[in-house]
Amino acid sequence: MNVVKTIAEVRRAVAWARASGKLVGFVPTMGNLHAGHGSLIEAARGACGFVVVSIYVNPIQFGPGEDFASYPRTPEQDLELCQARGADAVFMPADEEMYPQGKILTEVSVPSLSHTLCGASRPGHFTGVCTVVAKLLNVVSPDRAFFGAKDFQQTVVLRRMVADLNFPAEIVVCPTVRESDGLAMSSRNSYLTAAERSQAPALHECLELARQRIVAGAASANEVAEAMKAHLAGRAPDGRIDYLKIIDPMDLRDVEKLTGPTLVAISVRFCKARLIDNILLQSPPKGG
Ligand code: AMP
Repeated sequence: MNVVKTIAEVRRAVAWARASGKLVGFVPTMGNLHAGHGSLIEAARGACGFVVVSIYVNPIQFGPGEDFASYPRTPEQDLELCQARGADAVFMPADEEMYPQGKILTEVSVPSLSHTLCGASRPGHFTGVCTVVAKLLNVVSPDRAFFGAKDFQQTVVLRRMVADLNFPAEIVVCPTVRESDGLAMSSRNSYLTAAERSQAPALHECLELARQRIVAGAASANEVAEAMKAHLAGRAPDGRIDYLKIIDPMDLRDVEKLTGPTLVAISVRFCKARLIDNILLQSPPKGG
């Protein structure tokens, strides 16, 4: 496995792979890798002959007062996981490599998909994500880039960016990997206290509750949302709902009648950790 720090090196490695006739798969991450990231690397490994992982905590997607400085950084363990899951190259740039002039003047954004859900409580976040992913796609030029369904809005925003700007990469979305009690794996789970950790599976539980209610023919999104709120209030008393949305997975707009593909998405804030999770229901019963 080749560990590189410069854009020139990663481009050379990818050019060599492509010249050898290999498809290039790319897994962008912020490090502190866990089995969720591992599943993306394995998916890339299964689909592509050459797999690049990037590890970069991108400053421009964090707002003032957010956890950029304290975000867990564990490069040695990350490299072990990359090696074990079959990465061919790991790109670990410094800020000076990604933003050599300090402040970046060019931004990429998808405003109409970025102001709801996570974007409502993290203004500018998706512009930071789009801008760094656009840069990384230009650096790595992969055939396929792999993202996790846990960050559903991110996948919707990036798919649209890639389509609108004709990036020649296919976006592949992989399922959320969970702990045994259902909690979606996340680097930010380490911010939870023991008491909060025991309450955190409530997010997944109330998404499962939503699935059951919708499959059983719940009349309205509002009815489902109320049942979810009641579950959370009892099961996660230290959590505060940031958002709880029942939406169209294509345009992220609220739905009231449960007649088509439906995304149920939730964010709950504990003391230091803001957790997100979602469930995609492909074909709820017609007529709600
Ligand atoms: P991050 O390092 O948190 O920026 O995440 C990098 C990639 O890993 C993103 O595409 C995430 O959606 C994905 N990811 C994070 N957690 C999980 C998980 N539990 N299951 C699957 N993918 C995940």
